[in-house]
Amino acid sequence: MAAKKKLILILPSTSHPVIRFTLSLFYNAPATFSLFILPALTPEDYTIKIYNQKLFWSNKDFIGGSLVGISCATSNSYEAYKIADRFRKAGSTVIMGGLHPSYFPQEALQHCNSVVIGEAESVWPDLVRDYENKTLRQAYKGEPLADYFSPSYNYFLKINPRILYKTGILLSRGCKYHCDFCVPHSGGLRLIKLDQALSLVKKVRDGVQLPFGLKPTIMFRDDNIFSSPEYAKRLFAGLSPLRLNWTGNSSIDIAFDDEALKAAKASGCKSLFIGFETIYPQKLQKTSTGHMRSTDDYIKAIKKIRSYHIKVTGAFILGFDYYTHKDYLRLMWFLIRSGLYSISLTILTPFPASQLYERLKHENRITTFDWRKYDSLHHVVFRPKHMCALSLSLWFIALRVVGLLASPYFIIMELQVLAEFYLAFYFTSFLKSRLF
Ligand code: SF4
Repeated sequence: MAAKKKLILILPSTSHPVIRFTLSLFYNAPATFSLFILPALTPEDYTIKIYNQKLFWSNKDFIGGSLVGISCATSNSYEAYKIADRFRKAGSTVIMGGLHPSYFPQEALQHCNSVVIGEAESVWPDLVRDYENKTLRQAYKGEPLADYFSPSYNYFLKINPRILYKTGILLSRGCKYHCDFCVPHSGGLRLIKLDQALSLVKKVRDGVQLPFGLKPTIMFRDDNIFSSPEYAKRLFAGLSPLRLNWTGNSSIDIAFDDEALKAAKASGCKSLFIGFETIYPQKLQKTSTGHMRSTDDYIKAIKKIRSYHIKVTGAFILGFDYYTHKDYLRLMWFLIRSGLYSISLTILTPFPASQLYERLKHENRITTFDWRKYDSLHHVVFRPKHMCALSLSLWFIALRVVGLLASPYFIIMELQVLAEFYLAFYFTSFLKSRLF
């Protein structure tokens, strides 16, 4: 009998492996739902192995004679290239795709045999056929498919529900807004069919039994679960009879739709992660929601969501051009009185393919193209408008401390970060020889 062909799919770790390890003690693996789409489109005579943010690699992992697909964004491109180099050296054929290689195909081609530019579903069957015929092209241009999920739907139904419970469920691609710092999906907002979405959720719900009759909490990993209010309301109505809890990301405009909030609550929504593009709508010509006129409107919106017993995690990005020292001081006060359940702070990062990247590059304000520093937490990679990079870093630290005091959950997160650094500092040299 002929040996089965091998496909290895890899989503590289996003940060230092030791830090990643400590993170893994506290969090579920980040969204990897999409990693299952390509196996569904791969011929059945392949054995498929998936490495999801693997922490430690050993020499025997890098095997030859396989087709290896690596997807990466900017922050994990460095790890991705190292892994790609090792697999190629071992004699495998490496394909790279994802946001970063799509934007920099020539850079990626220094580490792989072929690049998929854009979304892979439309070209994957051709690519696998070319690989088998040894006629692989250097680049494949994937077009966004309106119904990208249906061809994989049956495959998803066969996946162990506990795996999907851990990865979370993704019902859409794209977002209705176009924030300039965000890397957009080229196909705009696309939603999977509602009956497929509900069947998938039900399968996970039925497959996960928790002790003491506790309800499982499903994580919806969509960029914005409220991108289509009409779809969201139908989804919430469909979730209600399933007796589950759920969390997800949403835009703040859900606060102005009582019908949606009521339906979300009834369907088991426990918390929403909301990105605050600004708390100074008067300083932006156009916010992603036109409802906001003043900083107090944000406080009212949070209060409104909380009135439905839905917790709000607020995500803030520091470094926008409109932020002066005074504004950071005001943001501190906002965090204290916001009533947020927890607070997520990151530093503005001009990710390639975003409008922000193009603009800052044009203005000659990007200070490094070392992608390892595009982590949004530890490095400022551009020149802020009203202050130096060091000042922005100091504001970031100061606001984290305030966030700690303002939100009990934030204390746990901060303790975790301390633990990460403690472990990273003491064990990095010890483990160095084993890391790549
Ligand atoms: S609302 Fe969020 S997901 Fe949508 S474009 Fe803005 S940053 Fe991106």
